[in-house]
Amino acid sequence: MYHIALHFIVPLFFVLLFYKKELFKKQLKVYCILMATMIVDIDHLLADPIYDPNRCSIGFHPLHALWLMPVYICMAFYPKTRLIGIGLIFHMMLDSMDCYHSLKIWYQ
Ligand SMILES: [Zn+2]
Repeated sequence: MYHIALHFIVPLFFVLLFYKKELFKKQLKVYCILMATMIVDIDHLLADPIYDPNRCSIGFHPLHALWLMPVYICMAFYPKTRLIGIGLIFHMMLDSMDCYHSLKIWYQ
């Protein structure tokens, strides 16, 4: 369960660390963009069952495919897609850490 909390906490720390001198409105906007990247989990709806605690999402679900990881990293280098890329990188890292914690694998 701590895994889900990390999806909210890690972006919050990112904002507090890298946007600490920005106005609250800007910080909130950045946090909302990072949170919006969780929509990537919509690909779980294609799986049956939708949630399986013995399945690693990395490498299994279409938007969690390994070949997309470099795409997400590249997105972080372009200003217009930077926050989305960073949010997706955080998301994939946290999902992978959850796989390792629960299944002892980093990806499916
Ligand atoms: Zn995910």
